[in-house]
Amino acid sequence: MASPVAAQARKLLRDLALRPPLLAARSQAVQLTPRRWLNLQEYQSKKLMSDNGVKVQRFFVADSANEALEAAKRLNAKEIVLKAQILAGGRGKGVFSSGLKGGVHLTKDPQVVGQLAKQMIGYNLATKQTPKEGVKVNKVMVAEALDISRETYLAILMDRSCNGPVLVGSPQGGIDIEEVAASNPELIFKEEIDIIEGIKDSQAQRMAENLGFLGPLKNQAADQIKKLYNLFLKIDATQVEVNPFGETPGGQVVCFDAKINFDDNAEFRQKDIFAMDDKSENEPIENEAAKYDLKYIGLDGNIACFVNGAGLAMATCDIIFLNGGKPANFLDLGGGVKEAQVYQAFKLLTADPKVEAILVNIFGGIVNCAIIANGITKACRELELKVPLVVRLEGTNVHEAQNILSNSGLPITSAVDLEDAAKKSVASVAKK
Ligand code: GDP
Ligand code: MN
Repeated sequence: MASPVAAQARKLLRDLALRPPLLAARSQAVQLTPRRWLNLQEYQSKKLMSDNGVKVQRFFVADSANEALEAAKRLNAKEIVLKAQILAGGRGKGVFSSGLKGGVHLTKDPQVVGQLAKQMIGYNLATKQTPKEGVKVNKVMVAEALDISRETYLAILMDRSCNGPVLVGSPQGGIDIEEVAASNPELIFKEEIDIIEGIKDSQAQRMAENLGFLGPLKNQAADQIKKLYNLFLKIDATQVEVNPFGETPGGQVVCFDAKINFDDNAEFRQKDIFAMDDKSENEPIENEAAKYDLKYIGLDGNIACFVNGAGLAMATCDIIFLNGGKPANFLDLGGGVKEAQVYQAFKLLTADPKVEAILVNIFGGIVNCAIIANGITKACRELELKVPLVVRLEGTNVHEAQNILSNSGLPITSAVDLEDAAKKSVASVAKK
């Protein structure tokens, strides 16, 4: 039986590799789609969209209240919309730690833009999609507001159950699509797209019609849908979500919001896009780990786990739990390991004050155990390790590795297998 901790770790791991997007599993229309890493801010997504013929409002980006005020003046618009830039949705109904309500504000007065931006930048914005404490706002978008006569929903995603891209739309936009899926599933429309043939005119037209665009607006909406699809393909997106995909009283179809996620496997051919990656919303320790090609996941116990591979990480968490312990975190050391990485890994693991013991569980397939052993002894000496260390190494060059550890004169506890390692690390914590 999987333990709750292991389930939590598994979920975190899965989130690392697979990040489910807009239509959560609850939606009957679309199944869970793999979520990947890169997620851009709205202003970055909108820039990509406007460069590719998709209709968005004119905008500037600001990172101080003064700059926001200047931007609002420069826009010279009848009405201005000020939007906090965070990666999570639901900003409109969010609340700032400054007390300000709403991450999206409309005003006609540039001075008000400055005053509101002052209560946004540097504060946390909490929405339905953020952690409770919210996410710090570093930038705001100052855009020309347009009147909206109707809000619809449009998304394009890679959907496993369709074996390819699918258009998802609803005439009921602006609100949470999950709510529409639950209350009015008949108002969610899908068009599966053949990735080789591309989007057909008839599909774009049918979606535009299903979204309720009438007369000349139907062609305009279909044209926008095709452009969004072509952009989706061109930039290796896994998801493009526009909510609201709206209509103005003046007869324009406009993308009022934008959320684009990218396939991390495409990084090598989307260098410009990946260079925009805004890591400021990650946990600092995750960013630090990523610098050394390490994956760090924080948990809430007291045994730090140093492992290689996601499967071994989960097994290690499970077995610690089965033996009555709780993992504090785990650090996944990928394949081609260098000694310096092991040192950095120990530094990161021990930086967490909750850690009372360290369990190393490395299976040397590609990894050479002797490199790990040298890294461990070096780290122990240089970091003057204070907590018990239990090491289980197996695989390539394991005998040499064991010699390195036992001849080091360091208080390292060796374990013969995973079970033994878990028992010894749990016992070392219990003793304290
Ligand atoms: P979200 O709450 O994070 O999804 O942020 P949105 O960008 O979708 O904005 C929330 C809501 O603000 C939208 O659903 C619109 O109703 C409204 N809104 C956003 N931009 C404009 C605009 O230019 N004009 C008007 N009238 N409303 C806007
Ligand atoms: Mn939105």
